[in-house]
Amino acid sequence: MATTTNDLPKTATIAPSIYKEPAPIVDKDNPLESMMQRFDRAAEILHLEPGIYNYLKTPVKSVIVSIPIQMDDGSMQVFEGYRVIHNDILGPSKGGIRYAPDVNLDEVKALAAWMTWKCAVVDIPFGGAKGGVRCDPRKLTMQQIEKITRRYTANMLDVFGPDRDIPAPDVNTNEQTMAWILDTYSMHMRRTEPGVVTGKPLVLGGSKGRREATGRGVMHSALRGMDKLGIKPNHATVAVEGFGNVGSISAQLIAAEGAKIIGISDISGAYHNDAGIDVDDAIHYSETHEFLLDGWKGGEKITNEQLLTLPCDVLVPAAREDRITKRNAHNIHAKLIVEGANGPTTAGADPILESKGVLVVPDILANAGGVTVSYFEWVQNRMGYGWTLEVVNERLEEAMNSAFDRVHETSLKHKVPLRLASYILAIDKVARTLRLRGIYG
Ligand code: NAD
Repeated sequence: MATTTNDLPKTATIAPSIYKEPAPIVDKDNPLESMMQRFDRAAEILHLEPGIYNYLKTPVKSVIVSIPIQMDDGSMQVFEGYRVIHNDILGPSKGGIRYAPDVNLDEVKALAAWMTWKCAVVDIPFGGAKGGVRCDPRKLTMQQIEKITRRYTANMLDVFGPDRDIPAPDVNTNEQTMAWILDTYSMHMRRTEPGVVTGKPLVLGGSKGRREATGRGVMHSALRGMDKLGIKPNHATVAVEGFGNVGSISAQLIAAEGAKIIGISDISGAYHNDAGIDVDDAIHYSETHEFLLDGWKGGEKITNEQLLTLPCDVLVPAAREDRITKRNAHNIHAKLIVEGANGPTTAGADPILESKGVLVVPDILANAGGVTVSYFEWVQNRMGYGWTLEVVNERLEEAMNSAFDRVHETSLKHKVPLRLASYILAIDKVARTLRLRGIYG
């Protein structure tokens, strides 16, 4: 569901759309295995010492908690919650919390590592973390979700903290979830601690521009990528996969730069219009219809697979993982791929895109605008002073562009694609910090 305002989300329907969607399994590649393959290649190029390699592969802390909840009929149900801090060498750890029936410790560990690399790429002083509660929000009432959130937080009081570990929303959690975490943590601390979470409602100390930050960062990455390829934005054609927060805002902001959006999609289908899609109309439609773009009349209906292979200059996969695989990478026509989603391209597709000369701006760079503005939110909370939207957006642009430039320089230096360059940059930064700090004990 595309959202462009800072209104509180519809908390009574905690992300139900996610559960309506069939799993978009296209390939057998696992995004987390894909990430580890790239980590290994970067570590090899950096000649990382075996000790540091092992240290960076292992989370510094993994916590499992039991969350007993009294259900409406008086019975008790026990849920399992996780929080993994992959690394906190660069600063307090940062990462979202997801609620899903299949969350498990291994998944959370891998996602936490991903956050370490993302924060290092954009040069923000955070480590990486991730959390999860194994539950099915479809089968829970709002009151039960609130109880789970509060008990999970109470169990994590020794882990969370504005100077220790700072959660944010992820799959099936939202601004309301963050508000409950903030409240529970603050009650125990006997003072209000807005900096304990980011992605919270504006009125509780959230940041202006946070909701649009990931899409805005994708737009900056797209402009930088086009510039490297000599594509003028006002001559560019763009296809965007996924029309949720990241996809719809990326499409809107890239269109505002003069590019023509010729394809959009969501789980209900894809639309193609060579004359240019009216993105604002599509956003309005998706906000007022339960099934998002289903039934929209602004383009010719095509399949979700066809959208990925549309002849266009730029492709923005902003839906899910594993969408560009070794099965369809050969058919991609775009010259530039800007990864709004996490893990949309499998490791198997990387060499195919490379051999075709496609420039790929990888997820840990392209979609880092969200965590960057989360960092700004935390800074504002610590200052006790809110920035204007202009200041947030200006600093985001600066952070995204300088991260892109650092990655680009690394890519030239090591003669590797931007993805590998991002990993090299991130791992090198964390490893150098570790060598300087040394090992205590
Ligand atoms: P969202 O739930 O708001 O939107 C996801 C969109 O993808 C929906 O429109 C859905 O219908 C569509 N979709 C799902 N499967 C699809 C398919 N097979 N084909 C076409 N469309 C499909 O989620 P979001 O917050 O926009 O996140 C999208 C991606 O971006 C995820 O990978 C997420 O991890 C990543 N991401 C999000 C943020 C953020 O700040 N929201 C930050 C970094 C990365």
